[in-house]
Amino acid sequence: MSNRPFFLKSNIVINNSSVSTIGKVIINKNIEDKSNYIQVLEKESKELFTDGYLGYIFIDWCPSEIDNKNYAINVNCVETLKDYDVIEFDKEYIHVLYRDDSDDNFIQVTNQCNSNCIMCPDSDFVRNTDKSYDLLRLERIIDCIPDDTKNVCITGGEPGILKYDLIKILKKCKECLPNTNFLLLSNGRVFSDFKFTEEFSKVLPYNFKIAIPLYADNAILHDLITRADGSFYETISGIKNLLSQKVRIEIRVVVLKMNYLELEKISQYIAKEIKNVEIVNFMALEMSGNAYINRDNIWIDFSKATSKLYPAIITLIKSGINTGIYNFPLCKVDKRLFSLCRKSISDYKIRFKDECQNCTIKEFCGGYFGSTLNFDEDGE
Ligand code: SF4
Repeated sequence: MSNRPFFLKSNIVINNSSVSTIGKVIINKNIEDKSNYIQVLEKESKELFTDGYLGYIFIDWCPSEIDNKNYAINVNCVETLKDYDVIEFDKEYIHVLYRDDSDDNFIQVTNQCNSNCIMCPDSDFVRNTDKSYDLLRLERIIDCIPDDTKNVCITGGEPGILKYDLIKILKKCKECLPNTNFLLLSNGRVFSDFKFTEEFSKVLPYNFKIAIPLYADNAILHDLITRADGSFYETISGIKNLLSQKVRIEIRVVVLKMNYLELEKISQYIAKEIKNVEIVNFMALEMSGNAYINRDNIWIDFSKATSKLYPAIITLIKSGINTGIYNFPLCKVDKRLFSLCRKSISDYKIRFKDECQNCTIKEFCGGYFGSTLNFDEDGE
């Protein structure tokens, strides 16, 4: 578990812009492969200061001679950094891109998306801010992630809009991290292009799954939720194309006010049309970004949302399809479904209420998103 800040405010000096500012952390020691590491040195260890590192972080001191080196001083929360974290020197911040003690690491490949879902936890502003992706930067991040990393999630925005550059990123993942489990979060629309899907499926890392949301059993409701005309047919065609190439697929059904009465129908549709998917997970909302802005249209109390889960799940199980329940606090779920509940909220987002301290099932519960903690039962 790791609940550490992703951005550390710092005074950063870039004296050598010809080297990457993304590197692995090594604290109070020396290492052979200096050119890939950022050395963190406390005052007590200053005799370890050596030439050749990609960058330096000095704690409570700074050498008098530091020409042509990239370094940071006055770093807030510097004690939260760990050996083998991957960090980037930004203008005023150190950006923690990979946390070596966490199982919830992700690579955000773009913040742009070709849909505009009503309950997206990102805001329109974030998704429309033109922050073009940088393929070399992404490949550098992958290069730096230790090859004993268990899980990495590739996310966006919508990673699929990178199209053939996404293929390059996945090739790099396969080459650098052959033992890592990868989960790609995608709305699936781009895979309606069969030729692209064929190319994509040829380069996938060994342990790879793609998670695709489906909000309805029909185009009218699904497209109303994605606010993207044609998205239902593209997603379904994408899923079928991926299945034809034997790509492992998880379907994610986000439960909101607009579709909670339709869950059983969605299950019936999945069982009929795309029954070879590996698993279907029903997911509670995360109430940030667009989701918060559109809260009156989408929020539904957990108890109401979960009241419709049982028949939907039974329908899938009877069809031989694995199912799971994500992001719902355990006490809000029908006891008969407890065994399907997963601790699915990322470590840095999990919160519990005061009353949870005395709960006898807390150790099995995944808690709340910070953003849903105060939404439950009162809608605000
Ligand atoms: S820990 Fe809190 S949210 Fe989880 S089951 Fe117990 S009371 Fe509910």
